[in-house]
Amino acid sequence: MAIDYSLLRQIPKVDELLGCQTLEPLREQVPHSLLKEQIQLVLDTIRQEVFAETRDSIPDAEELFSLISESIKRASQRNLRRVVNATGVVLHTNLGRAKLCRQAVQAVEEVAEGYSTLEYNLHTGSRGSRYDHVEQLLCRLTGAQSAMIVNNNAAAVLLILSAVAKGKEVVISRGELVEIGGSFRVPEIMEQSGGILREVGTTNKTHLSDYENAVDPECTGALLKVHTSNYKILGFTQSVPLPQLAELGKQYHLPIIYDIGSGAMLDFTPYHLQEEPTVAQSIREGADVVSFSGDKLLGGPPAGIIVGKKKYLDLMKRHPLTRAFRVDKMTLAALEATLMLYLDEEQAKREIPTLRMLLAPEEELEKKAHLLCEKIRQAVPGLNSCVQQEIGQVGGGSMPTQELPSYVVAIQPAGCSLERLEKALREDEIPLIGRIAHDRFLLDVRTMEPEEFDLAAQSLRRCLTK
Ligand SMILES: *Cc1c(COP(=O)(O)O)cnc(C)c1O
Repeated sequence: MAIDYSLLRQIPKVDELLGCQTLEPLREQVPHSLLKEQIQLVLDTIRQEVFAETRDSIPDAEELFSLISESIKRASQRNLRRVVNATGVVLHTNLGRAKLCRQAVQAVEEVAEGYSTLEYNLHTGSRGSRYDHVEQLLCRLTGAQSAMIVNNNAAAVLLILSAVAKGKEVVISRGELVEIGGSFRVPEIMEQSGGILREVGTTNKTHLSDYENAVDPECTGALLKVHTSNYKILGFTQSVPLPQLAELGKQYHLPIIYDIGSGAMLDFTPYHLQEEPTVAQSIREGADVVSFSGDKLLGGPPAGIIVGKKKYLDLMKRHPLTRAFRVDKMTLAALEATLMLYLDEEQAKREIPTLRMLLAPEEELEKKAHLLCEKIRQAVPGLNSCVQQEIGQVGGGSMPTQELPSYVVAIQPAGCSLERLEKALREDEIPLIGRIAHDRFLLDVRTMEPEEFDLAAQSLRRCLTK
């Protein structure tokens, strides 16, 4: 088959379309420049399809109208948009990690919409500090003397090392030279901070004596421990527990810096989840400075939280990088509201979406899956769908080997490939993100709110009955 040049000649001119009767409603609603741009785009696509020989007729005026309307709709959508997470991955880094709790959203709305006490002390009527809002709360929850917040945990680690260990050696086990997604690598952060990396031990085994032999009263600035939050070394392994490392630190007057990454505020082991170092436990066991993310297991906004001894935190608060890593009022509002829930653990588990989803009982998930399946059957009669048990993950580089038994609705569409369905759902008005496994398209209910079930069912209807 050859390119059909007669088809090309039938493609209307932009100006013709701009003046045509059928497009009248669009001319009234859409700015001229946008309309012209989108007409051009639609015509270009048609031209390309003719050249690619995937098109054997030119759309009539009606069809052009709907193509152009859709194109305008797409162009007018925000790029950063809400999606329905049906992957079952609770802390999905690509989908924005932790969802905020209702209280945090409300707090953000309040300070974003109006003026606030961000740096204003209501008692004295004079300047206050933006860090005061959460410092006391963090100290109370973690048992630390002092606390501060920066943009994210990568910034926190860079700030800590810059303030405490610049020009000095920082001793770290070879088993803890972590890389987190998005190019956070401990050795590179170290270099940026001006600290000098002093690796000890091996990938699988590091002993207390390895640290001890590396400590030099002249050159050593700190001992660094990094929680291997996104991988596990199994088998013939050994690492030095925090209390022992803290003993060594005390002996040589060296600060113990502990990057725990995932920021667990409560002990997950009673809920049959992997043990994660909690912030309070890390402080109790002798870490002088602890840093973690706000939007991993804590379930709050993206932030880097630093807690620990006042003398080290004071160095950081005065450091010029602190201004560069300064958090905004919306983050602080969300963080304060989230942390307040932790004053009552039951409340935290009920209200913080990350905790609620991680701790959801299997019976509840099964019930949810049947509800979703029913909605889907109503919206798309005849669609082959059923409830199944599946294994999910925590995500966000947290609890890497933790299997989370969950329930999914498994869909086997007739007359549409799984890949095409997956793509159509992801490009829908409210994108629905699921996954393909065992020749089925899976919607995991762990990460879905019941309020989203209708949205999901409608998305499926749109994509399968087109
Ligand atoms: C996630 C993580 C980081 C990076 O935290 P961000 O808040 O994403 O910047 C650093 N260290 C560890 C151990 C982590 O798990």
